[in-house]
Amino acid sequence: MPRSLAIFGATGSVGQSTLDLVRRNRDDWHVSVLTANSDVVELAALAREFRPDLAVIADADAYQGLANALDGTGISVAAGQAALVEAAQQPADLVMAAIVGCAGLAPTMAALAAGTNVALANKEALVSAGALMTAAATASGARILPVDSEHNAIFQCLAGATYDQVARITLTASGGPFRTMSAADMARVTPAQAVAHPNWSMGAKISVDSATMMNKGLELIEAHHLFPVGLERIQILVHPQSVIHSMVEFVDRSTLAQLGAPDMRIPIASALAWPDRMVTPCTPLDLASIGRLDFEAPDEVRFPATALCRAAIAEGGGRPAQLNAANEIAVAAFLAGRISFPAIIDTVRAVIDGEAPPAPTALQDIFSIDAAARAAAMRRVESFEHA
Ligand code: NAD
Ligand code: MG
Repeated sequence: MPRSLAIFGATGSVGQSTLDLVRRNRDDWHVSVLTANSDVVELAALAREFRPDLAVIADADAYQGLANALDGTGISVAAGQAALVEAAQQPADLVMAAIVGCAGLAPTMAALAAGTNVALANKEALVSAGALMTAAATASGARILPVDSEHNAIFQCLAGATYDQVARITLTASGGPFRTMSAADMARVTPAQAVAHPNWSMGAKISVDSATMMNKGLELIEAHHLFPVGLERIQILVHPQSVIHSMVEFVDRSTLAQLGAPDMRIPIASALAWPDRMVTPCTPLDLASIGRLDFEAPDEVRFPATALCRAAIAEGGGRPAQLNAANEIAVAAFLAGRISFPAIIDTVRAVIDGEAPPAPTALQDIFSIDAAARAAAMRRVESFEHA
């Protein structure tokens, strides 16, 4: 029997990598849902290829375009935010959460609340609403299977261990394209330079996050929710080759690491096939030709984002949601050429230096904190523009 798979963010980097694996294993999967933000042409092409029951476009204005493009196929079409949530409530064996940003939170929560296992790439959802998401999963019995390569690595290394057996979790970081660049030179980098990641091919937002090291900070918060060993037992280690994807040290001082080529299809396959394994077309690891693996401590002076994230999750409450929203606005402003590269972190810092948001107890609280932080970040972006 094929397993049913609903893919949220199907047109993105993780969505396409997921569909590449499905394409090679067509008999194993029934794609039940495909979604995209606004790219009707690409979503319609994927729908014609994979024949989902339902295709959803988040942009409500794009409904008619998608309906026309899929006319006569028998595929149901829907549009808008509420339709995304309804699609996530449909029965499926697995939901791939690969929307970028807090925009993915509502459908991901809906899937977890419905008791559906979620392969989670959408880290911003967990950063903003980690406590609510893990509580929803516990309540319904749904599993969160981490797709982010570091968290997938940790998940594999843990393999049934208890958290009191863990001495330390080490999140590895490539250091991004500006790892060795001076702060003065970083002030002049362009969006094109920032999205050119040395090891991974990814969407624009996460590529910029890797360049600021905000990605590793968000991943620290993500790890804190997925693997509750306590913040002081999670550390970051720069490893420029991106071969070791993360490590777990146990109390007996035995350390397990997960290694592989920097290809997202490997962690995606691990989540899709879990608890089994599936064949992938990925390049085998050739350590003899790689020759050496390097490590260095993160430089939190040139890259303050990880320290900001550690402080935000230590404070807890609504602070991580506020930080995430400010970062989303700042990254979009940088990509649009509105602010400089260092102004990304300055914007985030300015927003999280403000009053603490009220502690969220429901999803609606997260959306309120997110909206207020976006507005504050936008004001900061405008002040940079007029400076
Ligand atoms: P991407 O920009 O390539 O794709 C994003 C997808 O989300 C697209 O399908 C887009 O249509 C959809 N989308 C964007 N905004 C939306 C909105 N407002 N409403 C509904 N849908 C929307 O991003 P990506 O690189 O594939 O990353 C997706 C998620 O996975 C991110 O949270 C990212 O941090 C995480 N992640 C990505 C990688 C990677 O290698 N790309 C690795 C680890 C984690
Ligand atoms: Mg990662």
